[in-house]
Amino acid sequence: MSREFRSEAEKTKFFVSSFAAVDKHLPKKASAELLSFMIWRMVTGYGMSDAWPDMITIVNLALADDDDDEDVDCTCDKCKTKMIEDAMDDADSFLDNVLNSKRGK
Ligand SMILES: [Zn+2]
Repeated sequence: MSREFRSEAEKTKFFVSSFAAVDKHLPKKASAELLSFMIWRMVTGYGMSDAWPDMITIVNLALADDDDDEDVDCTCDKCKTKMIEDAMDDADSFLDNVLNSKRGK
């Protein structure tokens, strides 16, 4: 990760505010095709093409989490923050596993 955080709380705060900034600018509706190209634009725009395989796994984990949550439709700030925290936890453990397996080679 290109940005270092002093604490989990700081990281969560940054993620939540980043999500809010993105939410503010996203179109109200999108097709799967539009969304795909938006993701492509973001991945290449941030120069993250190499990280794409890892990103797919993180997105899959977050999507699987959504399916598990009964209150996934609630969009209040508290639930959104919780959702982001859960997704970050999954991403962290996934990335830990990736880094550990790469170190092992
Ligand atoms: Zn809620």
